[in-house]
Amino acid sequence: GTCQLSGTVRDCSCEYAAVERVNREAVLPVLKELVRQPFFRYFKVSLYCDCPFWPDDGMCVLRDCSVCPCEDHEVPAPWKAADSASTPGCEGSPRLEEESAVDRRMDASTKEHLVSIRGWRGFNNPWMHEDESDVDYSYINLLMNPERYTGYKGEHAHRIWNLIYSQSCFSNIMDPETCTERRVFYRLISGMHSSISAHIAKEYLLDERGGRWGPNLALFQERLGNEGVRERVENLYFAYLFVLRAALKAGPLLKEAAYDTGSPLEDAQTSELVRKLVDSQAVKEACPVPFDEGRLWKGEDGEELKRQLQAHFHNITKAMECVGCEKCKLWGKLQILGIATSLKVLFSAEDCTGGQTAEPQLRLERNEVIAMLNLLERLAVSIEVVREMSLELADSARHP
Ligand code: FAD
Repeated sequence: GTCQLSGTVRDCSCEYAAVERVNREAVLPVLKELVRQPFFRYFKVSLYCDCPFWPDDGMCVLRDCSVCPCEDHEVPAPWKAADSASTPGCEGSPRLEEESAVDRRMDASTKEHLVSIRGWRGFNNPWMHEDESDVDYSYINLLMNPERYTGYKGEHAHRIWNLIYSQSCFSNIMDPETCTERRVFYRLISGMHSSISAHIAKEYLLDERGGRWGPNLALFQERLGNEGVRERVENLYFAYLFVLRAALKAGPLLKEAAYDTGSPLEDAQTSELVRKLVDSQAVKEACPVPFDEGRLWKGEDGEELKRQLQAHFHNITKAMECVGCEKCKLWGKLQILGIATSLKVLFSAEDCTGGQTAEPQLRLERNEVIAMLNLLERLAVSIEVVREMSLELADSARHP
């Protein structure tokens, strides 16, 4: 039968039905518009192949897999200016010290909240492995490179997922003895994996020669639509609520940020959409605390555990270098950065670390904000895909 989820999402305090409804009615419509805005559609990423785990076995040659970087004129002018001000090699120059226009405008209005959106690698993210100071990166227009079926599968893809799941701290993960922190961690990854599967099922290449795209119900049933894999859908909901909580928590900062891409009209619209999302009354009513991060890291070994999980997450970020399909790597990297940013937002503020390693000033980079809200949109779409395709599946079972 079809996955029928009811009751409360584990590790959260919201009902499945409420999440599904508020997503469809309030969250998803805003996010869909938001990710179309210039600020949110250009993601800065290195797709260079630099896999530390296996020898290079050739870049992706699959037709639906390659990514085209943006034309130079497409990249927002203020971003390019900030990039050239902070290129390595200019070190020590006064321009490096100078805050970009984006920051200056923001800082004036965010004294209370102390988050700014900088360009790239300005701020440390404790969950990301970052040692590529001079990598080749490009800007990718996400709208031109949608996440969907690419044909990347088999041994190569499994190797990556295995690497991610095979880490020792992921064994017996769902059993009740396992501490919440590890389970949360696993569920975020699994939820992202479910979301990728949902997008593949929704946008599948149905006819190789004709280039016809559409839903693949059988694939959906196999990966997300049967009782045996109910947990995957539960983890999707969990990941969604976790990232939603992070976005709401970062709300005061996100609301006051200057979304400057040099197109004032669209940038004002972007601010308005962000405000609509983080101030949504419907969300507050349906799900006042999507996830309660205050419960975590409280045990004696909290700090040690956090360090372990961070090291583990660094391995996952490195594993993304090994993904053998440019488009999958693009979306994989974006979503991993989105998770890392959510972890940073929820677990670096004073109120949830017991004060020991609290960063007094949480700061987000432009790319982190772009990744977090695009990830939330991906998860939101997936929840809707699961709802729709589950209904279709039930329907086709009734009228075979
Ligand atoms: P896979 O999805 O490869 O799963 C492997 C194993 O993991 C399964 O057998 C199961 O045991 C376990 N598993 C599956 N789902 C879950 C879950 N939700 N939680 C926990 N365990 C699970 N392909 C595309 O077509 N488009 C993309 O954009 C794309 N992006 C990708 C991004 C990354 C980072 C990676 C690693 C792969 C990506 N792929 C993409 C490939 C895709 O994820 C699958 O690997 C591929 O479609 C083959 O699927 P599969 O049915 O063999 O199972």
